[in-house]
Amino acid sequence: MDVFALWRSVCSKLSSEYGEDVFKSWISPLSVELRHGTILSIIAPNKFLLDWVSNNYASDIKDAVNSETSEIEEIEFRLKSENDSDNYKQSELDIQSDLNDQNSVVSSFNAELAGMLDPRLTFENFVVGKSNEFAYAAAMRVAESDTAEFNPLFIYGGVGLGKTHLLNAIAWHIIHTKPDRKVIYLSAEKFMYEFIKAVRFKNTMDFKEQFRSVDVLMIDDIQFICGKESTQEEFFHTFNALVDKNRQVIISADSSPSDLDGMEERMKSRLGWGLVADVHPTNYELRLGILQHKASTLDYQVPKRVLEFIAQKVTSNVRELEGALNRVVAKAMLTHKEITLEMTTDILSDIIRANDRKVTVEDIQKKVAEHFSIRISDMYSDKRSKNIARPRQIAMYLSKKLTTLSLPDIGRKFGGRDHTTVIHAVKKVEELISTDISFDEDIKILTKAIS
Ligand code: ADP
Ligand code: MG
Repeated sequence: MDVFALWRSVCSKLSSEYGEDVFKSWISPLSVELRHGTILSIIAPNKFLLDWVSNNYASDIKDAVNSETSEIEEIEFRLKSENDSDNYKQSELDIQSDLNDQNSVVSSFNAELAGMLDPRLTFENFVVGKSNEFAYAAAMRVAESDTAEFNPLFIYGGVGLGKTHLLNAIAWHIIHTKPDRKVIYLSAEKFMYEFIKAVRFKNTMDFKEQFRSVDVLMIDDIQFICGKESTQEEFFHTFNALVDKNRQVIISADSSPSDLDGMEERMKSRLGWGLVADVHPTNYELRLGILQHKASTLDYQVPKRVLEFIAQKVTSNVRELEGALNRVVAKAMLTHKEITLEMTTDILSDIIRANDRKVTVEDIQKKVAEHFSIRISDMYSDKRSKNIARPRQIAMYLSKKLTTLSLPDIGRKFGGRDHTTVIHAVKKVEELISTDISFDEDIKILTKAIS
């Protein structure tokens, strides 16, 4: 039996039954394995997901499987183990971060809070550079403040750039300096999970009480509740109740308040009321600084040249940067060898290749300009004639698709245009793709040429 084909049909059934949101959050991270020809193992990447899925969706999944085939005699749910092959959509790194997120359990007590924070994520261990100095200063200010002068503090930026680190650092700082304060730190996903659970077990009063009685509420990755109406509604009321009482709210997200698609307008506007600070991608100097700091905490001598090499090659984000260093050090420790540039190149070859392949907005502008025989400078010029404006929109669209830059960052690279111009371009191009076959062809050819 083709277990993957089976799982695909089950998934398509569940996705139409549950809708995109629920499906994406809970079902699509699962993978499957067939044991002894008749036992279907459904594998979850972390405990949180495992519990949630087996409590809420098990019977629907079983029904869907049984309606597809009569060959499966038993269905079991289990946690992913190290031996499982990687037919996961998520990378190892994501899974690791999911496991970390799992620790973010609601707590009313600081002792409990301390248990779920990561002890390494403090202000002392946060290396400051140009790209994060503003967010750092804002976080510090809020951590030290007694009056919630900036409410909410909203920190946003790409993956692995230190948002969770800053939130943890604020929490640690408050625990140490003001131990009588009640602090809650949790991911938006966990907030939703707690909320749904409360609704299910009819104790929303406790839920509300728990969240509305804190001095500091921190919610990590708020974009998770985009498009989830009832959770948003609840969050909105919690948020207002706290801000009205002058309690500090701290939020992180992957984009600015106004760019949070699927977030209600009133929520977007309130999120932007306080202090909004972004973390940008790192530059070489900061990456080297982070590596040096990290290396100094290890009992292992890492040559300067190796650190420089990693800082130069691994540019995607700090999480990957740290991962690269860890890998090199682990290898050296296990094989009792000294760390050299040669072994580093060897061990990190896959990461280096992935980073080298990274597409930049400049590449896209160049290729698109060539394709339409216009000048690269037209990409940032003010010219509005269609034969120039259209290619420019295409380049913006491809920048959104093929890079990890935020909309405002993309706008900046096109002659300082506003992010709404980029949104408009993306929409326009998507519309043309779906209505004009030759246009669609053009985009496909360009995409291929660029990546
Ligand atoms: P995000 O929440 O933005 O996705 P994280 O805060 O989880 O990113 O950061 C990913 C990893 O990189 C963490 O291990 C964190 O400690 C580390 N990191 C990020 N920025 C810095 C920094 N400026 N200094 C030291 N470590 C950092
Ligand atoms: Mg994070």
